[in-house]
Amino acid sequence: MNQFASVNDFSGVISADRAHVWHHLTQHKPLETTDPRVMVEGRGMRLWDASGREHLDAVSGGVWTVNVGYGRDSIGEAIRDQVTRLNFFAGSAGSVPGALFAQKLIERMPGMSRVYSVNSGSEANEKAFKLVRQIAHKHHGGKKHKILFRERDYHGSTIATMSAGGQPERNAQYGPYTPGFVQVPHCLEYRAQWDVENYGERAADAIEDVILREGPDTIGALCLETVTAGGGVITPPKGYWERVQEICRRYDILLHLDEVVCGVGRTGEWFGYQHYGIQPDLVTMAKGVASGYAAIACLVTTEKVFDMFKDDSDPMSLFRDISTYGGCTAGPAAALENMRIIEDEGLLENTKAMGARLMQNLGALQERHAVIGDVRGLGLFCGAELVADRESRAPVDEKMVQAVIADCMAQGVIIGATARAIPGFNNTLCLAPALIATADDIDSITEAMDGALSRVFG
Ligand code: PMP
Repeated sequence: MNQFASVNDFSGVISADRAHVWHHLTQHKPLETTDPRVMVEGRGMRLWDASGREHLDAVSGGVWTVNVGYGRDSIGEAIRDQVTRLNFFAGSAGSVPGALFAQKLIERMPGMSRVYSVNSGSEANEKAFKLVRQIAHKHHGGKKHKILFRERDYHGSTIATMSAGGQPERNAQYGPYTPGFVQVPHCLEYRAQWDVENYGERAADAIEDVILREGPDTIGALCLETVTAGGGVITPPKGYWERVQEICRRYDILLHLDEVVCGVGRTGEWFGYQHYGIQPDLVTMAKGVASGYAAIACLVTTEKVFDMFKDDSDPMSLFRDISTYGGCTAGPAAALENMRIIEDEGLLENTKAMGARLMQNLGALQERHAVIGDVRGLGLFCGAELVADRESRAPVDEKMVQAVIADCMAQGVIIGATARAIPGFNNTLCLAPALIATADDIDSITEAMDGALSRVFG
């Protein structure tokens, strides 16, 4: 029982929520007759809602964010100590936690050099797009302004990041979009677009085909998720990243990796790209940066990119950009302590070990349940794709995916699913527990899934 539920009556909260809160990504009609869920307290991997029910959270706050788990007193203390000393100053001045966090982050990102702090993943990606456009104006006569993005990838909820969004189901109602964004094919081998042995290289070459079609001198950057998250937990096929990097270098195209989900330990390395030995030019990150204890996201660049903006004889060299809450010190204070926890508690190693266990358990579920067509994952970031028929790989009805999630919820385990409404991609159950997960937690999650799959699919 959580401490609030035992002493408080939440009926006033529930009625205030129902009357006045517009929840994200929620159809509110059903909430006229059922109570909205209000979460009250969290500890480690567990959450309690206003009714006092306990939940084991297998998706780190719903959207793969709370990497170090709930209820971290030391992060609360770091934030309190900092904000009571100095909470904010924006613009050109630095801050103590801002400088120390940037240094600590860059030490774990060899080859990278500069940290630009903002508030959300969408904003970090927007800033990266602005850098690319400004480089095009200053260094390429305005020509290399196009930004390539990939089918199924997601980069945010703003109009420009949606213009780089590869999930049309999210975009249908919000156009017209920003010009200059061009889509390249996805790389999901399970839903293969090419019948070849070396699938990874072929999928990368498909990017080159687009570059040649558009004209390499028109393209400034390639923006990709290192592992596609909401688009279906798409892990890159072998050989993909090495070839992608080679292609970017061949055509002088900046490689922008969106590590909003993969970053800060989620995959078992500090950053997802570090599994592949590649060197990006721009990296964006958000969720795990402060594990949701404060709103901070970052755009990280190489010194080479930074240098392109360092010319005081030319007013066009200034990166003419600011973000008011980039001046909040709570973010870097929380982020510094978050990194200390990951390191001191050996959470990268734990993520590798528990990720392997989760993949093994999912493999065992796949043997028992014909409805699981494919399992994919890297570290504690895994997906199980549900198909009506293994032969045709036709996706199951989305209602069945939701039924599995609801059954797990009824058992006290929160799991998720990737983006909806596109056949073949809306059907992936998604698991991203906190990096502190134990073997018992992992087994409890897959046991709940086992029961749910049996009940929903017979
Ligand atoms: N990129 C990726 C890969 C994401 O998954 C998300 C959020 N789910 C974003 C960007 C946008 O981040 P935010 O919601 O913080 O704007």
